[in-house]
Amino acid sequence: MVHRQVDLARFQSESSLVTPAYGAREVAQPVPKYEIPSTGLSSELAYDLVRDELILDGNSRLNLATFVTTWMEDRARQLMADSFDKNMIDKDEYPQTAEIELRCVNILARLWNSGEREEAIGCSTIGSSEAAMLAGMALKWNWRKRRQAAGKSADKPNLVMGINVQVCWEKFCRYWEVEPRFVPMASDRFCLTAEEAISRVDENTIGVVVILGSTFDGRYENVLEVNDALQQLNQRTGWETPIHVDAASGGFVAPFLQPDLEWDFRVPLVKSINTSGHKFGLVYPGVGWIVWRSPADLPQELVFHCNYLGGDLPNFALNFSRPGNQVIAQYYNFVRLGREGYRRIHQNCHDVALYLSGELAKSGAFRLISDGSDIPVFAFTTADHVNFSVFDMSDKLREHGWLVPAYTFPKNCEDLAVLRVVCKEGFTRDMADMLLRDIRAATEFFSATPTHQPKTQGSSFSH
Ligand SMILES: *Cc1c(COP(=O)(O)O)cnc(C)c1O
Repeated sequence: MVHRQVDLARFQSESSLVTPAYGAREVAQPVPKYEIPSTGLSSELAYDLVRDELILDGNSRLNLATFVTTWMEDRARQLMADSFDKNMIDKDEYPQTAEIELRCVNILARLWNSGEREEAIGCSTIGSSEAAMLAGMALKWNWRKRRQAAGKSADKPNLVMGINVQVCWEKFCRYWEVEPRFVPMASDRFCLTAEEAISRVDENTIGVVVILGSTFDGRYENVLEVNDALQQLNQRTGWETPIHVDAASGGFVAPFLQPDLEWDFRVPLVKSINTSGHKFGLVYPGVGWIVWRSPADLPQELVFHCNYLGGDLPNFALNFSRPGNQVIAQYYNFVRLGREGYRRIHQNCHDVALYLSGELAKSGAFRLISDGSDIPVFAFTTADHVNFSVFDMSDKLREHGWLVPAYTFPKNCEDLAVLRVVCKEGFTRDMADMLLRDIRAATEFFSATPTHQPKTQGSSFSH
């Protein structure tokens, strides 16, 4: 954490020392928290010490806030442990790991209907955020080249997207000096529409980002509609504004659950797609993917060729060293699960999401914002007549270990505060019933406490 305010006194006081519970048996000296100790501990003691500190973290299996994988089977864990030592960047030293990355890129490109082109263009990343940076740079470089070729200025790029984008797109715009043009929400609309997007596109637009699986409510934006409107605009104006699809979640869901939905390379203006392998790709964090439609969509100036690891290896990434084992685990999932396995797992998450959202709607205490029928993620708010807020419910559920985030919507909809549930593999129908039981108990608790004042904001969760 970069800006966490710390009380300086804590660095000098007794509280700057850790005293292991097992200390009496082995160590005489307390261990400093904020300095490297002068001598070390035995591996057993160090293990116990760190593991015990981590007990205070939430239980990842009860974390319904995160989209990120919290369970993998033992064989996958074994394979990951076997390959912890492989650095993804050492492609010349670990050619088979590099080959596996290449296979994954090709598998995804074909899963996203890139057609039968020989070799897919793309790479692994540390997550969708890095993938978004790479995608955004490609959009910006290509736009600049078009502008320069036409003898026009290229100093005011903008990117059009819904206000519901994940924070990585705001980061992209700030870090790479691109003006963000957000389509605001309306009281009854939480996603981008084609009309609203097109009205913000001009000659300086490097691209339109369409989200497959909105962070706020799990809904898909309509890629095909944006494509059709943008194609007409491009025809009329001579611009070549492309679409990037942020399929961080949906890229691993739609191909299995909604195979007829056209959102991917079947849609002509979609030039690049990112996804998070560590979300519905079912790998532990962190691995993401980015694939471009064709070589022309990835400007060659962005690709570096290094020779100091031996060989001449093209590289487009923000970081240099990165674990190879998540890429290996992604490939394991592909061969282990196949299309049928992915479909079954996601169908199960879908069923749990629809069951849970249906029960909550039936309870009368809540109103659904979405029901989990796109990606298995839904958001809901409290009904008007109840005397508790979503923040109260989030706090109450924490008492039982459940991590269910409560947050307000962006500009124009700030008055809407919701709870969100991400149904992942490992969140079973049984667990959904336990959650329902705890939600009902909390609802009863508040209705039995008529003096309760609803809390209007909460502790922050990241999304
Ligand atoms: C999670 C998410 C991201 C960021 O992905 P990371 O893999 O966590 O970096 C970007 N966009 C959307 C839509 C997301 O859901």
